[in-house]
Amino acid sequence: MPSKINKIGVLTSGGDSPGMNAAVRAVVRTCAYHKLECMGIYQGYQGLIDNNLTPMNARSVKDIINKGGTFLKSARCLEFRTPEGRKSAFENVKKNDIDALVIIGGDGSFTGAMIFQKEFSIPVIGIPGTIDNDIGGTRFTLGYDTALNTITDAIDKIRDTASSHNRLFFVEVMGRDAGHVALNAGVGAGAEEILIPEEDMGLERLLESLKRSEKSGKTSSIVVVAEGDKTGENVFEIASYVEQNLPYYEVRVSVMGHMQRGGAPTCFDRVLASRMGVFAVESLMRGKSNVMVGINDDQITLCPLEKAIKGKSKIDEDLIRVSDILSI
Ligand code: ADP
Repeated sequence: MPSKINKIGVLTSGGDSPGMNAAVRAVVRTCAYHKLECMGIYQGYQGLIDNNLTPMNARSVKDIINKGGTFLKSARCLEFRTPEGRKSAFENVKKNDIDALVIIGGDGSFTGAMIFQKEFSIPVIGIPGTIDNDIGGTRFTLGYDTALNTITDAIDKIRDTASSHNRLFFVEVMGRDAGHVALNAGVGAGAEEILIPEEDMGLERLLESLKRSEKSGKTSSIVVVAEGDKTGENVFEIASYVEQNLPYYEVRVSVMGHMQRGGAPTCFDRVLASRMGVFAVESLMRGKSNVMVGINDDQITLCPLEKAIKGKSKIDEDLIRVSDILSI
């Protein structure tokens, strides 16, 4: 029989993503609904080490469902990677009578949570918050949908200028290891080519494809490039190679950068965060631990943290085909 949970701590860790605030709100209010105490921990694991935390009630999380970023702040905390750091963190967990933790973050944060749980037997549950959508055990992570909308909006604007000047734009988007963002935003924005880490297209094939487009009457084009694409060294190198070999187009590069992480969460991300937050607290109350909340076939589910970390979601091969067909 799991021991009764009376007080839950919640933190946001690693890279921030839109929807984290909505998830914290859901956790805090579900605690209030079930008459549990809740502590908001600032700056991820750093706040546990520094004892930087505060009691939260239903009103503490007003007016945040619509805000990007995380009002609890996030941090990359090196100390938590050491046994001494985690010991200090656990001392503060005990001092504050916290019985369980909700960790909102990515695979790094979940790795820390798993180690912490193993060392001190504290129940932990993860909520996936990352724009990259590169976590196993869930179809969607918080912030992914918002980032896709932000990127397609931006590419729509780039398209206006591209078509006015016969320009070929290379647009770099986030995704060092995973091409989900590039592939989906690329299809959504009607990109000519989409370069992702999972597939090395090669500069020659890219050039051939762009030449074919030019012959078929395209006067401007957009190529979406994930940061981690292996076709060239980086987006500037790819662009300069193409520029030298395709004199018809004026080539331009646009790097989306950190704007992709920000902005008000979409309705999809707010609803997802709300559902995941409620489920996280109620799962802890049912004695679950060392698991992550996910969404699969529109059902909120649980999977072991280990699977979430190791089971990176696969790229959608069918969507690659869709993109190939539609960019004719
Ligand atoms: P994300 O959660 O977005 O993947 P990070 O990889 O930066 O982001 O991880 C967030 C934090 O999780 C780190 O700053 C660190 O405090 C903690 N963490 C990550 N990996 C480990 C680890 N192997 N051991 C302990 N803590 C870790």
